[in-house]
Amino acid sequence: MSGIKGKTALITGSTSGIGLGIAQSLADSGVNIIMNGFGDAEEIERNRSDLEGRGVKVIYNGADMTKPDEISAMLSQAQDEFGGVDILINNAGIQFVSPVDEFPDEKWNAIIAINLSAAFHTMKHAIPQMKKNGWGRVINICSAHGLVASPYKSAYVAAKHGIMGLTKSAALEVAQQNITVNAVCPGYVHTPLVDGQIDDTANSRGISREEVINDVILAAQWTKKFVDVKSVAGIVKFLCSDDAENITGAPITVDGGWTAA
Ligand code: NAD
Repeated sequence: MSGIKGKTALITGSTSGIGLGIAQSLADSGVNIIMNGFGDAEEIERNRSDLEGRGVKVIYNGADMTKPDEISAMLSQAQDEFGGVDILINNAGIQFVSPVDEFPDEKWNAIIAINLSAAFHTMKHAIPQMKKNGWGRVINICSAHGLVASPYKSAYVAAKHGIMGLTKSAALEVAQQNITVNAVCPGYVHTPLVDGQIDDTANSRGISREEVINDVILAAQWTKKFVDVKSVAGIVKFLCSDDAENITGAPITVDGGWTAA
C-alpha cells in the first residue's frame, strides 16, 4: 500500500463503530485524522489520543451533520490546520424503522440530512482543494440498502440509494483529476448499535440472541456472519491506494452475498 502516509482524512461519524475502525486503520497507515461525531467527551478524547499514539496528528470537530454551516466550519478548520482534506469518508449515519405512512417527518428529514445531504456538503467543500492538489479520494459508506430495499426503512433506503447516485455523478466529474469517488456497501456490521438491536428483538420476540442473529438480522446475509469493521476499513484503505486509481463511481459490496441473490 503506497502513497497515503502523511495525507489527511476527514471521517464523519468516527466516534463509534465503522467510522472509528476506519480512523484506526488509516492512522496506522500514517494518515492524519479529523474525527467527527457525537458521544461522551472523555471517551472521544480517549479515542483521539489513542489515534494520535499511532504517530499522526488528530483533531476532533463535533460538527452536527444536519447543519451545513457547521460542516462548512469543519472544512475551514481542516484547511487551516492541514491545508485541506485528501481523503473524505462520509460515514455518519442514523436509522429509523417505521411504515412509510406513519414515518415521522422529523425522522425523515434527519435521515436525509445526515445520511445524504451531509455528503453533498462535505464534498462541495473538500473537492476544490483535491482538484488543486491533483489527488483525492472520496469514499461514501453506503449500505446494501443503497442497492436493494427492505420494508419499513424508506428514509434510510432512499438516502442510501441517493448516495449511490451522488457517488456516480461526482465520480464522472472529477475522473480526469486523479480523484476517485466510490461507495462501500456493507451488509450487517456488528457495531454497538446493531448489538443493542439484537437484545431488543430477542426480548420483544421471546427468542434467543442466536435466533435473532441467524433468522432475523442475518436473514439475507448468506454467510450468516456479520461483516467485520476491519473488512470495511480494509476496503477503504485499498480504495485510497494507488492500485485503486481506476476504480471510481463504483459500489463495492461487502455483504455476505446479500445483493447477489
Ligand atoms: P454508529 O451508530 O456506531 O456510528 C454512527 C456515527 O455517526 C457515530 O459516530 C455518531 O456520533 C455519528 N453521528 C450520528 N448523527 C450525527 C450527526 N448529526 N452529526 C455528526 N455525527 C453524527 O453506526 P455504524 O454502524 O458504525 O454506522 C456507520 C455508517 O455505516 C452509517 O452510515 C451506516 O448507515 C453505515 N452502515 C452500517 C451498517 C451496520 O450494520 N452497522 C451496515 C451498512 C451501512
